[in-house]
Amino acid sequence: MKVVNPATGAVLAELKESDRLSIRGMAARARGAQPAWAGTPLEERLAVIRRFRALLVERKEQLARTLTSEMGKPITQSRNEIEGTLGRIDFFLEKVPQVLRDEVVLKDPAQRLEERITLEPLGVIANISAWNYPYFVGSNVFLPAILTGNTVLYKPSELASLTGLGIAELLAAAGLPDGVFVTVIGGGEAGRALLEEKLDGVFFTGSYATGRRIAEAVAGRMIRVQLELGGKDPVYVCDDVDLKAAVEAIADGAFYNTGQSCCAVERIYVHSGVFDPFVAALVETVRGFKVGDPMDPATYIGPLARPAQVAVLEDQVADATGKGARILCGGRRMDRPGNYFEPTVLVDVNHGMKVMRDESFGPVIGIMAVDGDEQAVERMRDTDYGLTAGVYAKDRSRAEKLLARVDTGTAYWNCCDRVSPRLPWSGRGHSGIGTTLSTHGIQTFLQPRAWHFRG
Ligand code: NAD
Repeated sequence: MKVVNPATGAVLAELKESDRLSIRGMAARARGAQPAWAGTPLEERLAVIRRFRALLVERKEQLARTLTSEMGKPITQSRNEIEGTLGRIDFFLEKVPQVLRDEVVLKDPAQRLEERITLEPLGVIANISAWNYPYFVGSNVFLPAILTGNTVLYKPSELASLTGLGIAELLAAAGLPDGVFVTVIGGGEAGRALLEEKLDGVFFTGSYATGRRIAEAVAGRMIRVQLELGGKDPVYVCDDVDLKAAVEAIADGAFYNTGQSCCAVERIYVHSGVFDPFVAALVETVRGFKVGDPMDPATYIGPLARPAQVAVLEDQVADATGKGARILCGGRRMDRPGNYFEPTVLVDVNHGMKVMRDESFGPVIGIMAVDGDEQAVERMRDTDYGLTAGVYAKDRSRAEKLLARVDTGTAYWNCCDRVSPRLPWSGRGHSGIGTTLSTHGIQTFLQPRAWHFRG
């Protein structure tokens, strides 16, 4: 399997894909290691992850450069991602011991009865991951899974394999015993082979199309399945906001990571009273984005990680303009090596166009005018996805009321494209099932046992 730099097309490395037989051996290793790992005192498990954190800090620059070279994330954003992962690690180190505490729910001397709840690991879990934020989406799963006593078969995306191998190396250097975190290398075929093994849970991050295939593949096995999928996340800009601040935040929400975020702003609705100044300011901001070599710290927009995504964006733009949309900036593949697409802003768009219905996952945004709150809610709700939604408004209670009517796992007032380790991260509808982060995202790797003691 070739690892290709999306900014240049150069081959960075060749890796051996895990085949069916080797995956069988890996699954056996993870299975064999699980009981001893679950029996390892929690303090020792925490100590391994503390050392992993220290190594992440020590090797940050080298790891950031690897991430940038294999998936094109601008280097400043790669550094930000690794730094952001430290906060998630700290959250899990603090909360896992609290979540794992046994709970005595009844102590009745008269009946000589005690009722108790203990939480036990699921066992061996598969973590099939995406490439767009490999540290974030990976660590949301493997950190709490490992800390709660599970062993993990981790398949990084084929577009972030070197990063996945780097994470595995760090965990091993931190003292994680063999078999607790096993890395499967490859694409869809390796993922399918992994799902044929005996597993106690499948935790997937990726597209709706693949998530659906995974759910179908494991249906009937009665194991925990969690799917963190895509989005078509809307924001609504009311007529009473500080336009400059809203434009800056929304432009960043739409274009950060070259638009390749699950919770990127993908649809913008603007009150007609401020539509023209909002659009003018947004286009000016987007025109100011530095597009270029992702290794340059000043670069804000890099190449797309996936070569085929350029054609998806070309198709969305052609579909939109064919139905009456206007391009205010960008609109084309860039004439240079690598998978570059110009940052693009479209107006005169409607929900009959792919750009307002299908995940773009790139630097393309459509903006629509709405005549008020009711129309904004109606438009925001008109999607199969349900990851996040945002409202920019002066009044918090107005925003809360509107957001309560949009069915998403996350709601934002005067912010967007934001994830907190303290809050549950979950999608509704085609955005998936299950939760990572927060204490809910720790419990998801555990199963309760009910104890009845009499005597
Ligand atoms: P993808 O669905 O193409 O691939 C995801 C993973 O699944 C990869 O590791 C891939 O090798 C593997 N895979 C592919 N086919 C498989 C199969 N049949 N069986 C088993 N495994 C298989 O997604 P991607 O391009 O890596 O990621 C982008 C998508 O992920 C976007 O839709 C994005 O919105 C979503 N995403 C969601 C979240 C979230 O938290 N909700 C976070 C990040 C990304």
